Amino acid sequence: MSDSIENLLERRAILGPAYRLFYDEPLFPVQGEDVWLTDHTGRRYLDAYNNVPVVGHCNGAVVQAMSEQAQTLCTHTRYVHDAVLDYGERLLAHFPKYLNRVMFTCTGSEANDLALRMAFAVTGGQGVIVTANAYHGVTHLLAQLSPSLGAIGDFVRVVQPPLTQSEDAAQAFAQEIRAAIQSLQDAHIKPSVLLFDTVFASDGIFAPDVGLLGLGIDTAREAGLLIIADEVQAGFGRLGSDWWGFVSAGFKPDIVTMGKPMGNGYPLAGVVAKDDLVQKFADTGRYFNTFGGNPVAMKVGMAVLDELEQRNLPEQVDTLGETMQEALLGLKDLGVVEVRGKGLYWGVQLAATDTQTAAERVKLVVNEMRQQGVLLSQCGPNMDTLKIRPPLTFTQQHIEILMQTLSAALQKQCLVNVK
Ligand code: PMP
Repeated sequence: MSDSIENLLERRAILGPAYRLFYDEPLFPVQGEDVWLTDHTGRRYLDAYNNVPVVGHCNGAVVQAMSEQAQTLCTHTRYVHDAVLDYGERLLAHFPKYLNRVMFTCTGSEANDLALRMAFAVTGGQGVIVTANAYHGVTHLLAQLSPSLGAIGDFVRVVQPPLTQSEDAAQAFAQEIRAAIQSLQDAHIKPSVLLFDTVFASDGIFAPDVGLLGLGIDTAREAGLLIIADEVQAGFGRLGSDWWGFVSAGFKPDIVTMGKPMGNGYPLAGVVAKDDLVQKFADTGRYFNTFGGNPVAMKVGMAVLDELEQRNLPEQVDTLGETMQEALLGLKDLGVVEVRGKGLYWGVQLAATDTQTAAERVKLVVNEMRQQGVLLSQCGPNMDTLKIRPPLTFTQQHIEILMQTLSAALQKQCLVNVK
């Protein structure tokens, strides 16, 4: 290493104050391998947080595909290339048949932005409904649709996400959507889109089963809204063999957006939609993305699909998810309020103590876990939830390490007067 971590932290000033680091003692990873990160001192950390390296950090097959294509050709979608078609066909094969068009971007934000442009063009409206603490991306438009970042746009209405699987929650979700539509109409804004993250990640994590969202979605559809499923977090097998959150939840989105794990770290994202929507969008607009869909990105995407399919990773997630759920529920006596999630995406909501808020406690646990060599994070509208989201190459052994460390961290930090 050419510089000390203290110097690096000082030099970070050039990035300005909008950037934030994880952990009280910032981590400086210098190498990644599968589910492990090695820091500048040579210490290894079990990565139970990063969902982008879905098939493992620095996956050899992905890196090889990237390197081979980078040495051959990297252009864009204004030339014919078989890789964009091969990958597009392979990706669409993982979707229901009616979702039969795919467009490529570099980030999840661009995917959501494109999906919204499409929906606005098709519906002629601009009113959007999102969940109360949603995050959908970095652009000016998406920041206005991401209440977790701050103020929302005047064309946006929020609804509480249903975080329990019950008839009451289904009814309440539908009622919230009805009220949001009415509110947009009262403001003379034509409702256009219901957009939500299918695992409600920043709302505190919840993976709905079939039946929970149907009534709300029907309510939106009847009022002429299109449904965009943001699969940036839930997609590519994170919740298990269903591959997508909308499949687990049993509904049919009009448009699906993807990103994060799609390129295992290479900037690759995209939008899948019904052909008639893409046609209507193309009647009035055009689409070109300089880097989106380039041959290197496509070969990377293909290698990710190869790994997921050939190693049956989404199927393994079904079993791993059951182990995780059981193990996490076993922590209930250690001040755990609720365990939510599915597959390899879990939120563990903690209780407050007499002396600490739940958010403070979660922060302590996350930092203690980092000191003990396991990486997690914090989420939820009140930041009261531990966020567990490892690469899909996680195994039962890794779960054991995670659970032992978590149990010890909860005992050490939190056994004082749990309310
Ligand atoms: N949607 C969701 C649900 C996300 O979690 C994110 C990223 N955290 C995005 C969209 C935006 O993706 P990106 O950072 O690739 O622009």
